[in-house]
Amino acid sequence: MDLGLAGRKAIVCAASKGLGRGCATALAREGCEVVIAARNAGPLEDTAQAIRRATGARVHAVVADVTTEAGRAKILEACPEPDILVNNAGGPPPGNFRNWAREDWIKAVDANMITPILFIKATIDGMIARGFGRVVNITSTSVKAPIAILGLSNGARAGLTGFVAGLARETVRHNVTINNMLPGPFDTDRLRSTIEATAKASGKSFEVARVERMAGNPAARFGTAEEFGDMCAYLCSAQAGFITGQNIVLDGGAFPGTL
Ligand code: NAD
Repeated sequence: MDLGLAGRKAIVCAASKGLGRGCATALAREGCEVVIAARNAGPLEDTAQAIRRATGARVHAVVADVTTEAGRAKILEACPEPDILVNNAGGPPPGNFRNWAREDWIKAVDANMITPILFIKATIDGMIARGFGRVVNITSTSVKAPIAILGLSNGARAGLTGFVAGLARETVRHNVTINNMLPGPFDTDRLRSTIEATAKASGKSFEVARVERMAGNPAARFGTAEEFGDMCAYLCSAQAGFITGQNIVLDGGAFPGTL
């Protein structure tokens, strides 16, 4: 299936590793020119090289912290008129809300709610004027089924989801869609560090904790960044113009609801 993405310009935030990298790779493979951003130059440039080699696409690496104004300006300078925007940032730390101060909440809301909203604000009117736009926000299944120790994530991402639900209905008539992708367990560094923490706390080896975690999923495995990237590319495709304001769960069936 030709997704009609050749020549489109894409920004993928937080893309040196994991799910962001998966999205950037899939978009590059479909013919997009991609700007990828992350904070550390070395791993980011390695990823840019790997994507160029694998896809032949034009990939620009921008060293930037997406949660800062300077970082966002640098990314938008590299791609002032994106057709596609993939919002992503690191997730907030786990913990008990009794130990979180105002600053912890501000940091989480800043990274996982306000940063994507500011990127949308900077790019959406251009997309509307050009008659094509696709925004994909990487959130979490914690929006749908809260995870107690991830209260910062549950809260901040729910805020983004509520905002997007309204805006996505205003932009779609201009062929500009906004959707959220909700990852369950995907085999990335982020998941590996969570498993390491579980293993340490329970006195189990990393491998035992990993196998147990996989066994608890209906698919009996974790998702891959490639699978995640492919869904992102589809949501950004020419064919996906009638899909907006949706929360696409990718979790191997872990969420037990009928709908
Ligand atoms: P990861 O740790 O593998 O990769 C995160 C990427 O984001 C890296 O490239 C890192 O350099 C970059 N990054 C982090 N903060 C940044 C910032 N402020 N500015 C620029 N770049 C930044 O993580 P992942 O598993 O790919 O997760 C991506 C998002 O999805 C996170 O918000 C995470 O909480 C969420 N999530 C992941 C899973 C999972 O199972 N992997 C599940 C639910 C939610």
